[in-house]
Amino acid sequence: MSKRALITGGSGGIGAAICKKLAADGLQVIIHTHRNQMKAQALADSISAAGGDATVSAFDVTDAQATALALQDLLEAGPIQILVNNAGIHDDAVFPALSARQWQDVIDVSLNGFFHVTQALLMPMIRTRWGRIINITSVAALTGNRGQVNYSAAKGALHAATKSLALEVASRGITVNAVAPGIIATEMSADAFATDAIAQIVPMKRAGRPEEVADLVGFLVSEQAAYISGQIISINGAMT
Ligand code: NDP
Repeated sequence: MSKRALITGGSGGIGAAICKKLAADGLQVIIHTHRNQMKAQALADSISAAGGDATVSAFDVTDAQATALALQDLLEAGPIQILVNNAGIHDDAVFPALSARQWQDVIDVSLNGFFHVTQALLMPMIRTRWGRIINITSVAALTGNRGQVNYSAAKGALHAATKSLALEVASRGITVNAVAPGIIATEMSADAFATDAIAQIVPMKRAGRPEEVADLVGFLVSEQAAYISGQIISINGAMT
């Protein structure tokens, strides 16, 4: 039977591309959403129509109890061996103007969300002696970005968590990696970067496509990537 893959934030731009890629590669995809259930269901329907296997699961990753209940439910059908922690938000402001709410909200989704989801899935994954965990982070965590102290802190913490967790599970056939995209053409980046700004920031002078990120994730969760773990892999058009 094919392996099950949970993609958090599967209703978003990058998440949807990852769901499509993993489904095309023959995995049973669980499309996670928070508010955009109709979009997630439409994606599941289009994957099914193309012969793939996709279902939808909706919960708020910042809500520990709701996440635990939803995951318990999913685990009743068996372990989930592939997890892509992709749900994330940004809420930018220069640091003196950054509110405590903006700080907390961004850390809550990316970092606390990682904790709530990953911990719940880990023991069943360990028992199978095979697993893949991918954390979608950002170039902002590597280079810094003005107005994104909260966002880069959350994503940078995920880089550190990636490395530590990779060590803990290395002997159990589980790899843990971070994929750090640059500017990718989705709704999230559309409100943050004008086209001429992208030409200035990105040496390749274009935004990346969600499908390009999805192809990288598809490789990292495959059998062929068994020896890649604890890495932060950038995909950013040479932003370095
Ligand atoms: P989108 O805004 O398109 O998608 C964000 C996803 O996160 C949505 O599916 C949303 O669910 C989900 N989400 C937000 N808050 C919560 C929550 N509280 N609980 C559960 N799910 C939640 O973003 P992108 O596709 O552009 O980004 C995906 C990831 O890639 C993010 O982690 C982002 O930080 C990262 N990234 C994006 C870049 C870009 O240029 N686009 C660059 C670098 C990194 P719903 O809509 O259903 O509520």
